[in-house]
Amino acid sequence: MDAGVLGDGKTEVDWMDVGLASHTDLKRLQEGRIGGQFWSVFVECPDTKHFDDPDHAVRDTIEQIDVAKRLFAHHSTNLTYCTTSSCAISSFKSRRIASMLGAEGLHQAGSALASIRQFFLLGVRYITLTHNCDNAFATAASTVTAGGKDSGLTAFGYAAVREMNRLGMMVDLSHVSHDTMRDVLRVSRSPVMFSHSACYALAGNYRNVPDDVLRGLRENGGVVMVMFVKRFLNAVDPESADMQTAVDHIFHVADTAGWEHVGIGADFDGTVTLADGIDDVTAYPRLIQAVMERGATDAQIRGLVGENILRVWRDNEINAAAFEAAGELPVEDVWVERRFSRWDNPLPVMLPGNKKRVQAEHYV
Ligand SMILES: [Zn+2]
Repeated sequence: MDAGVLGDGKTEVDWMDVGLASHTDLKRLQEGRIGGQFWSVFVECPDTKHFDDPDHAVRDTIEQIDVAKRLFAHHSTNLTYCTTSSCAISSFKSRRIASMLGAEGLHQAGSALASIRQFFLLGVRYITLTHNCDNAFATAASTVTAGGKDSGLTAFGYAAVREMNRLGMMVDLSHVSHDTMRDVLRVSRSPVMFSHSACYALAGNYRNVPDDVLRGLRENGGVVMVMFVKRFLNAVDPESADMQTAVDHIFHVADTAGWEHVGIGADFDGTVTLADGIDDVTAYPRLIQAVMERGATDAQIRGLVGENILRVWRDNEINAAAFEAAGELPVEDVWVERRFSRWDNPLPVMLPGNKKRVQAEHYV
């Protein structure tokens, strides 16, 4: 295996040089022959009652973007910070690790499309529509697992998908409910990604992707990047999940959606329960060997380890350029339950209803 893995869907930003009790460090990334990596800037779901309640998610996300970019810069001999798919390819060719940013939950956008636009400008190239909580945009898988209703995308969620398509920000459907997946597949104008997911048909955990959604990827063009978390690989007997179970899931995506729609998205440093035989990022060569031993061709392997996610990314870029060329404007929607604070003051230009407003004729 000379090519190495290009394009693991997701590893949490939790990193130093060597010797950490983590799944990822520079030395082991090189040992695992990693050529590209999305680093997840992740902030927990806020403990609030209303999606418009103040919380620190936007600030904390910006902090994580800041620390991730400084980390890429500090290790620029080995890592290349990339915001385009062509950068990822040239970084790979120069034997550096292409390093990209993804955010793991639209709660991190503070219920505002403006935050999505600004995250894009800050370099984020995918956002997971939910983490383990509903937000103003969509229903999370965890809600349905806990007995809640699957309401899919909200009206504001549709607006967000439209805006993400316009920007070229990839829509990530890991963590979302099944109806959210279906709603997005119906309306997304660009291919979607699942940064770290597994197959519902093989492991009946609602966090996983059902077969009808896998089949829908053929038309959408998207990719499911298979994760290595035990309970998502085997919902009945998680402890028995091993590297061969992960290979089962890779083949199920390939058999159901096609080899053009499968990738790898470990969830290293996002979980403590990895499949047996997959202890950290050094496992990739053994995993790829196991996939080859099951009969995958060289072309299928190339798609799995990076070409598929790069195609999805490139298609998002091409579509975004076309939307811009067609003059498509930013989506101006505001979340319907948004509460604005208003500064009542004597200036004539402020919002309607300002009781202290001095009439315009008093200004000369
Ligand atoms: Zn996750």
